[in-house]
Amino acid sequence: MYLTNCEEDTAKLTSEGCSFTSGSCNKIRKVAIIGAGPAGLCAARHFFAPGSGFTGCLYEQAGDLGGTWLYSDVTGKDRFGLPVHSTLYYDLWTNLPKETMTYPDFEYQDEERSYLPSSRVLQYLVDYADYFNLHNYIKLHHHVTRVAPVGNSWSVSAMELTTKVEHVSMFDAVIVCSGPNIIPVYPQVEGLARFSGRQLHSKEYRKASAFEGKRVLLIGLGPSGIDICFCLMPVAKQ
Ligand SMILES: Cc1cc2nc3c(=O)[nH]c(=O)nc-3n(C[C@H](O)[C@H](O)[C@H](O)COP(=O)(O)OP(=O)(O)OC[C@H]3O[C@@H](n4cnc5c(N)ncnc54)[C@H](O)[C@@H]3O)c2cc1C
Repeated sequence: MYLTNCEEDTAKLTSEGCSFTSGSCNKIRKVAIIGAGPAGLCAARHFFAPGSGFTGCLYEQAGDLGGTWLYSDVTGKDRFGLPVHSTLYYDLWTNLPKETMTYPDFEYQDEERSYLPSSRVLQYLVDYADYFNLHNYIKLHHHVTRVAPVGNSWSVSAMELTTKVEHVSMFDAVIVCSGPNIIPVYPQVEGLARFSGRQLHSKEYRKASAFEGKRVLLIGLGPSGIDICFCLMPVAKQ
């Protein structure tokens, strides 16, 4: 999502870079990007490229970049009381070939395989941030709590989680890259509430070893369901 308040200006993001046509607002524009997953990093690479006509920063609530691809053993809430963002499980491999997942201007280095473990995707994203010098723009452990229009600008409030200090800054535009896969969807299954065994959504699933010797019912034959089934087959009883 791209929010801007300057009607006379247009910004165009292309695979070659970010071109900006200025009307009356002929100045370096300040952009806030929310989220350091694949989308936010790509926005930062183009908006903060030398000569783009933009400056600004990227706010990320986690302690590192990567978004969904940043694996954590923790489920539920993190140490700051925020919902854990990533739904990634430990042995996840991509369900798409890397050739369809790469940025057009940055190849995987020394990687012949097409389907990759999630840790390799994370490394690719870190390499991308290194290569395009994005780290100076990324504010880790900054949770954006509020975005509000103020005249032709946007006020962005971000809580620095390690200090509990709230920072409020003004920007000309805000790019929201906070992720598409956050809220788990639970099926309405009759009798589910009476089942006394452990129940969990795939968002809370991390390692197959937790199900060793158990009888497991998986509901949902989408990519996650099939993949988790393969992970459980060697360890589960049934
Ligand atoms: C289990 C699973 C498997 C997948 N497998 C594949 C695959 O094989 N291939 C593929 O192409 N895609 C896959 N995807 C899709 C995946 O969502 C995308 O690859 C990609 O991660 C989406 O990038 P994004 O930047 O939009 O969001 P995300 O990666 O979700 O990143 C969003 C970032 O925004 C941050 N954020 C959110 N709110 C705030 C806030 N208020 N303040 C500060 N920061 C905030 C989050 O902490 C996070 O770092 C998979 C997704 C899931 C869930």
